[in-house]
Amino acid sequence: MATPIITDGTMERVISAPRVVLPDTVGLFAERASRFLQLANGHPMADYLKLMAAVSQAQHDVIGAREAPVVPDEALERSRDYGMPPLTALSHARDPQWRDDLRDLLAQVEGHGVPAQAMVKAVRALDDISTEALADRLLAGSTLDTDAAAVPLVGAALQTYFTRLAASINVDLVKNFDVHTVCPVCAMRPVASVVRLGGERNNLRYLCCSLCSCEWNMARIKCSACEDDKTVHYLSLQAGGDDSEPASNTVGIAAARRAEACDECKSYLKIFYQEKDPSVDPVADDLASLALDVLVDERGFGRSGPNLLFHPGSA
Ligand code: FE
Ligand code: FE
Repeated sequence: MATPIITDGTMERVISAPRVVLPDTVGLFAERASRFLQLANGHPMADYLKLMAAVSQAQHDVIGAREAPVVPDEALERSRDYGMPPLTALSHARDPQWRDDLRDLLAQVEGHGVPAQAMVKAVRALDDISTEALADRLLAGSTLDTDAAAVPLVGAALQTYFTRLAASINVDLVKNFDVHTVCPVCAMRPVASVVRLGGERNNLRYLCCSLCSCEWNMARIKCSACEDDKTVHYLSLQAGGDDSEPASNTVGIAAARRAEACDECKSYLKIFYQEKDPSVDPVADDLASLALDVLVDERGFGRSGPNLLFHPGSA
């Protein structure tokens, strides 16, 4: 008997689905703020998640308040001619606009009262030079424990600025970038990946940039740090959720969140399934599931991408 040919359209969709999706500056941060509030409901870290909702809401208000600076021609040429990400975070000369964003975020979050005080005070204590130095450390993944209180607002301001810039470039410039483990726009590592639901991206996995909010497609069941596809496995907070993919044997919110761990490079990153919870957000769901990080860290895996609203070890 002939082997049936799969005709569910999966291959056609992979071919026609966008390889890179630039951020939507209109809805992104407002939707994240709503997700944080939703997740805060009954959560042991509710106050913290509500504070992060206020930070995301401030990002929403601030991102539309300014025009993106013009990306220098040399950066666009390097991208066109040599396939370099046009806004490479570690070498991009940041426009001082990002510190205006930081100042506005600060003013807005201050209205959140007592829970915001430590963070606001820590940022106010920085002059421009130390603010830039902290931004450099945050982008290089080398923040210090003494930076912890200032990290969420400085990270949020950098995200706001880079997201605005990323949305201003032409996607054709970056859609053929051939390195899959870093962002094609800013070369930062992803915060998490999301398996999308609906439309031409249905059932496809996208890595979500920790900085500029760009998303890029990567095959599933593949390590997002070293691209190994033999030793990747999945860990969740529910018993029995160890192996299969997608998370079919778990229920509730735990089913929507897993850690994709790789024995080859001993790293992990979380993966969220919209099919299990359509509202998942890579940044908010990541911060609402720090217990999963603890579980995976205990098993000897190191996290491969940052969450810029959070200094590791400060929870
Ligand atoms: Fe990026
Ligand atoms: Fe790996």
